[in-house]
Amino acid sequence: MMQHPFANISFQEFLDNFKASMKRAYHRDDKIDDFCSTRGIPAAVLTELMSTNPLALTIPREYGGFGGNVKQNIAFISAASYESLALSLTLGINNALFIQPFTKYGQAAAKPHVFERFLNNQSMGGLMITEPNFGSDALNMQTAITEKNGSYHLQGFKHWQGLTGMAEFWLLTGRRKTENGTLMRDVEMFMCDVNAPGQQIVVEEYYENLGLYQIPYGLNRLDVVVPEQNRLIPHTNGVKMLLDLLHRSRFQFPAMGLGFLQRMLDEAISHVKTRLVGNKSLFDYDQVQSRLARLQANFTICSAFCVKSGEVADIENDLFPLGLEANIIKTVTTDMMQESAQSLLQLVGGKGYRLNNIAGRSTVDSRPFQIFEGSNDILYHQIADAFLKLMKTAKETKLYNYLVSYAPAIAQRLQTLTSFEVDYQLSQRKLVEFGQLISRIFSMQLVAESAQRGFRSDLAENALDVLRQEVSSRINNLRFENQTLVVEDYAANSYWFDI
Ligand SMILES: Cc1cc2nc3c(=O)[nH]c(=O)nc-3n(C[C@H](O)[C@H](O)[C@H](O)COP(=O)(O)OP(=O)(O)OC[C@H]3O[C@@H](n4cnc5c(N)ncnc54)[C@H](O)[C@@H]3O)c2cc1C
Repeated sequence: MMQHPFANISFQEFLDNFKASMKRAYHRDDKIDDFCSTRGIPAAVLTELMSTNPLALTIPREYGGFGGNVKQNIAFISAASYESLALSLTLGINNALFIQPFTKYGQAAAKPHVFERFLNNQSMGGLMITEPNFGSDALNMQTAITEKNGSYHLQGFKHWQGLTGMAEFWLLTGRRKTENGTLMRDVEMFMCDVNAPGQQIVVEEYYENLGLYQIPYGLNRLDVVVPEQNRLIPHTNGVKMLLDLLHRSRFQFPAMGLGFLQRMLDEAISHVKTRLVGNKSLFDYDQVQSRLARLQANFTICSAFCVKSGEVADIENDLFPLGLEANIIKTVTTDMMQESAQSLLQLVGGKGYRLNNIAGRSTVDSRPFQIFEGSNDILYHQIADAFLKLMKTAKETKLYNYLVSYAPAIAQRLQTLTSFEVDYQLSQRKLVEFGQLISRIFSMQLVAESAQRGFRSDLAENALDVLRQEVSSRINNLRFENQTLVVEDYAANSYWFDI
């Protein structure tokens, strides 16, 4: 019998081999700072990055893959994001948006061929949800599905898909067309192999994305026919399948966050230690220390998220009901990524404001994480709704009283701050603020839990202090009534020169 390709490789060896390939790819002849401001990846770099078969990680063992779990995936992707956020997102797209959902919901007959191509041809996969007129409102997508003689015809437009024109396998989402021409409510998902007859996806336009230059984005036209075996089979309905997928992906954002945040911290420390301003090392200025402490707190908070995600997000688990936690982890991780990049850029100063400097590049690369897979504004609103529902069910009106059971590890520390009655009738802007507040409180809970279980206590205490200050200022914000609306016809009497 032939030996399994990963029979004698431990996870640590697999990870170390991948890290070594990144060192060769990014730090040898083709330095990342040299090619990062042109679009795409030089062929030699891509070949090097794929040389240790990183996409095998989450492919099940029975199909020749490494069979890695979510905890291992987080460690792996985080190692990538230390070197390149675009590379970690590329792995994230493949693993969380294609391989994991296809493994869970795909049909057995379709799998061997697809996984064989990932393992032997370095093929990649992605997910198509967003349409030009339906982004945040994705459940109203217009891609139509019609069934004909056991095959499915999908027609529509999708845009902003990561790996547009590059991935060979896609999970396509759409809604079934009824006989009277309307679209059914439920969403269905199909695997599409762009090399198979009738399954070619036409790229109508490539976008000039602001950052993440190594990942192609664009507008895709779908007019494909796929066989029954390519249909993903939901366990209950398609919307729940899609939310299980999205929540699992959101739980894995800390993977892309952690390495990135650690890199921002390391770059910041190394810069301020060597930069002299006014004959004094930047490291010795108090405001600089405040920034560094905040950068380090972000690393600690994200580490705590990784612990949590590694424990709850495996593919056997149904994550449909865990929207509140998934959304908190996604929003806070992505806010911290943008904040850390902005802070590094501030510390590096003018030199940082270049695409070929890690600080400038990271600022534009990290920004869309607050937009895709659920815009943070909307997710904070949803977090508030879900949390208020929990409080209502528990018949609790005082925030502190509810935190005693919801966030037991840190409730005491927040007793004075949170001993107030929560208003259930908040405006949307106040709901967003409330969602931001609850997210920071839950982040404190996760940091305290990780410290109880052995994470370094001085780092945890610093992070808890930083978060407590943030909680305090967010509570102040929440209490400040402001219903200001935009004045639409603002041009009259508002030109300063006439005054
Ligand atoms: C770099 C990048 C990568 C992406 N990758 C993928 C991918 O791989 N696959 C894929 O299918 N899609 C992908 N997308 C698309 C992404 O998921 C959408 O851009 C996102 O869902 C927002 O949709 P939209 O752009 O249509 O914005 P809109 O839906 O128009 O929303 C724009 C903004 O309006 C506000 N807003 C919207 N609704 C509300 C509301 N109810 N309440 C308050 N404010 C609201 C929010 O501020 C929101 O950010 C990607 C996008 C980017 C930029």
